[in-house]
Amino acid sequence: MALIVQKFGGTSVGTLERIGRAAERVAATARAGHRVVVVVSAMAGETNRLLKLAHDIAEVPDLAEVDVLIATGEQASAAMMAMQLIARGHPARSFLGHQIAIHTNSSYGRAWIESIDREPVLAALDRGEIVIVAGFQGIDAANRTTTLGRGGSDTTAVALAAALGADYCDIFTDVDGVYTSDPNVVPDARRTPHLTHEEMLEMASLGAKVLAERSVEYAMRYNVSVRVLHAFQDGEGTLVDGREDEMEQRTVTAVTCQRDQAKIAFRGVPDRPGIAASIFAPLSEAGVVVDMIVQNVSEHGLTDLTFTVPRVDLKRLLPAIEDVARGVQARQVDHDPTIAKVSVIGVGMRTHAGVAARMFQALSAVGVNMQMISTSEIKISCVIEDKFSELAVRVLHDAFELGKKKAPSPRGKASAAKKKTAPRKRARA
Ligand code: ADP
Ligand code: ASP
Ligand code: MG
Repeated sequence: MALIVQKFGGTSVGTLERIGRAAERVAATARAGHRVVVVVSAMAGETNRLLKLAHDIAEVPDLAEVDVLIATGEQASAAMMAMQLIARGHPARSFLGHQIAIHTNSSYGRAWIESIDREPVLAALDRGEIVIVAGFQGIDAANRTTTLGRGGSDTTAVALAAALGADYCDIFTDVDGVYTSDPNVVPDARRTPHLTHEEMLEMASLGAKVLAERSVEYAMRYNVSVRVLHAFQDGEGTLVDGREDEMEQRTVTAVTCQRDQAKIAFRGVPDRPGIAASIFAPLSEAGVVVDMIVQNVSEHGLTDLTFTVPRVDLKRLLPAIEDVARGVQARQVDHDPTIAKVSVIGVGMRTHAGVAARMFQALSAVGVNMQMISTSEIKISCVIEDKFSELAVRVLHDAFELGKKKAPSPRGKASAAKKKTAPRKRARA
């Protein structure tokens, strides 16, 4: 008898009929003798509808009350899922974040889970009940409702699986697994049977919204094996875990695109020691989460510093950014919200050369200019003009032979064939 967490996303609980079909799936797991904890999202579109109501009241509505409002989407789904199970003859009960309790910090709208009280859930399971948990929500030390950031029901599911020591955490969604790229953008994309936590974390943080980034952070930290499965089709889906399988690794596993960033450039800044600190320290105090940073070679003692920030924050942060620019005597500040970040990801990059060269060649062959580049051990990202993002993703997907038509190259084959280099640690370009 296993303990299984099963999470159903917005489209999978989008109508009463779908909640019923999801309940059938849960009931089948329970009938097979397993203990089941179900985590539900709000019905598709509901969180956006509630957020719009909040913004119709005020341009910047009270953050804590926004969380009370948007948490209701998951409350409704949890009750309906419990009712569907009860109607099918299965004892079930729903829990809201504060009833378990899922303790979080007080960052309303993007709270972090700090701890989970397991006892109420375990007691209900011991009574033979199927437990339904409203995803996306928690409670802070001030006894107020919090939410975990968009896609946060994934995080609830993985954190619960970790706290309960569950055997599996199944994420049921509207695709049958994690693909080499967003299947809605790249029709040729293939399902990947297995990914490491590390690869999935890069994918999630670089735009693959199939799993919320924080859910993967929890999975990695607590070594939770996560399966991504289609809610209403059978299949093996994608297993995300800590295992690095030498046999199956390709150099590049996935291509992603992130379209929610903006670029800011400080031009003509006097180039002296400490200049970066005097720019980024006040920006971080103002709550700016800076991502990529590029500093140009200085000319006549002046340099340009370019960095990216979340696009949603741009408007709110501009006054602070302009203040900082004045403080460091920048000649000019430019901002550009029409950028996108395309990335190639794969643990095989650690040991294989040639990925960067191949990426840059593929983009330049279709005339896409790279404005900024950043790398980590297992990914390379380029900032490009937003209008080229879909083209860039498709071109890179082809360049690394990730599609259905071509057989995937075994790890390293492509780069070895091209450059005849022995595997080198961290070598990519
Ligand atoms: P849910 O509502 O179930 O949480 P999401 O919409 O959050 O579902 O995530 C599923 C969607 O993620 C898919 O419909 C797909 O368009 C998108 N997606 C983006 N990148 C990928 C990828 N690499 N593999 C699979 N799906 C992806
Ligand atoms: N309902 C929330 C959202 O739309 C959380 C989730 O679906 O995971 O972001
Ligand atoms: Mg989601």
